[in-house]
Amino acid sequence: MRNLVIVLGDQLNDDSAVYDGFERNKDAVWMAEVAEESTHVWSHKARITLFLSAMRHYEQRTTQRGYCVAYRRLDDRTNTQSLRQELLRSIAQFKPSGLVVVEPGDYRVREQLELAAKEAGLALEIRPDRHFLSTVDDFRRHAEGRTQLRMEYFYREMRKRYGVLMDGGLPAGGEWNFDKDNRESFGSEGPVGVPVPLEFKPDRITREVMDLVADRFGRHPGSMDGFGWAVTPEEAEQALADFIEHRLPWFGAYQDAMWMDEPWLFHSRLAAAMNLKLLDPRKVIAAAEAAYRSGAAPLAAVEGFIRQILGWREYVRGIYWTQMPGYLERNELGATASLPRFFWTGKTDMNCLRQVITQTLDFGYAHHIQRLMVTGLYCLLAGIDPKQVHEWYLAVYVDAVEWVELPNTLGMSQYADGGVMASKPYVASGKYINRMSNYCKGCQYKPDSCPMTEMYWSFLEKHQEKLAKNPRMLMQLKNLKGRDANSAVQR
Ligand SMILES: Cc1cc2nc3c(=O)[nH]c(=O)nc-3n(C[C@H](O)[C@H](O)[C@H](O)COP(=O)(O)OP(=O)(O)OC[C@H]3O[C@@H](n4cnc5c(N)ncnc54)[C@H](O)[C@@H]3O)c2cc1C
Ligand code: SF4
Repeated sequence: MRNLVIVLGDQLNDDSAVYDGFERNKDAVWMAEVAEESTHVWSHKARITLFLSAMRHYEQRTTQRGYCVAYRRLDDRTNTQSLRQELLRSIAQFKPSGLVVVEPGDYRVREQLELAAKEAGLALEIRPDRHFLSTVDDFRRHAEGRTQLRMEYFYREMRKRYGVLMDGGLPAGGEWNFDKDNRESFGSEGPVGVPVPLEFKPDRITREVMDLVADRFGRHPGSMDGFGWAVTPEEAEQALADFIEHRLPWFGAYQDAMWMDEPWLFHSRLAAAMNLKLLDPRKVIAAAEAAYRSGAAPLAAVEGFIRQILGWREYVRGIYWTQMPGYLERNELGATASLPRFFWTGKTDMNCLRQVITQTLDFGYAHHIQRLMVTGLYCLLAGIDPKQVHEWYLAVYVDAVEWVELPNTLGMSQYADGGVMASKPYVASGKYINRMSNYCKGCQYKPDSCPMTEMYWSFLEKHQEKLAKNPRMLMQLKNLKGRDANSAVQR
């Protein structure tokens, strides 16, 4: 055998760079399901199901396309449940001359592959991942010479480079950013006519995986009931079409809003499909722009949505790969408290946390503001050790892969990187949550004196010396004196 071509569980695009120069009579695809990937953090059952089912569908598709796939199943009797060990065993069996892989999405996995290659005395060729619209080197070049990194400038470069939402060299509508038109709340009447998103009934492969997960990971958190995530590229494209037609027009306005027992609202639910590479971000961006050009969706909604994918998603990947491995150890605010047990049960008397954690355990999903301004806010204010916070987020969301989860958690949400990712700590009092949701209506506390608000003041007091150096925090610190929580509603 010439090359053993490694495909990881989040690399399921049929046009992956691993197939460049692939010769069917010389090379073979290698994939392995190993328990280690579900236990290194205590993964949600729906997350495990999604990865394993999508991998098994990929194996089926790839075999049908005429490739030879060496596939290790989790329930194979001899499976060592370690990626490195399984790779070494396959190397001993097939005796390839080399190994090929596309850039993994996780530093830890990359290290394991490198170690296995070294142990076997083989070269490991790591190819750039062309699923993304920018490379890590593009990001490095962007960052060079800048004293402060900000997503906005990176995003504008990407818009120009790919001609996205551009009219004759200028941004469509004359502005780069329509945030001022977005970020509304629902008002007391709540959301009206939220469309039910398209879900996919588990097929035979998914049902088999669900049985396996129930058997092997039954004590893991979360539920698989109602599992309806896309596990193939076809399903992912249907989910995209469903979002563009039924939810995109309202995405911008309500992207920050939250409401009791409404887990999806107008969000796309496409992160998992994109992160597993079942869906190409170019297709998502093109479909959104087409909706604007045809008049089906307003510019503010489309720009707000595209910014998340062409901007944030690419940007955080650059942060991850240019900051690792030291990034994982950062703890700027010296937070050391333990993650409360209720993060795994949802049993707390704070209704905002109860709502978001229960929804997370039920579906493996919460939208950005729920992650940032409810669970993330609590952890930041309570001084929870950022590594424990990171491990929770990596475990409980179906879309969690470390390259995207870590900068969002440790950087954006916990400010543990001291401002590499976010220009200030995202802190607010309970009044912000009250403004953006109806959670406080169902809570035994009142937002102006609830634990979230009390912790907010304590946080400002405790860190005021450090925060005073940041001009963006001055207003909040000024109001610390009079404890005017109305100043703390902006995120
Ligand atoms: C603490 C924390 C942890 C997070 N962990 C993850 C994670 O593990 N995986 C993940 O994909 N996203 C993560 N995010 C970003 C964001 O919350 C999710 O991408 C989004 O909620 C997924 O739901 P959706 O597909 O309905 O997204 P939508 O709200 O519909 O947004 C559209 C798309 O934009 C992209 N996107 C939006 N915000 C971000 C962002 N901040 N960074 C990168 N991409 C973004 C996603 O691909 C998403 O599918 C995290 C955010 C926070 C605050
Ligand atoms: S009152 Fe405070 S604790 Fe209760 S839901 Fe509102 S913000 Fe959360």
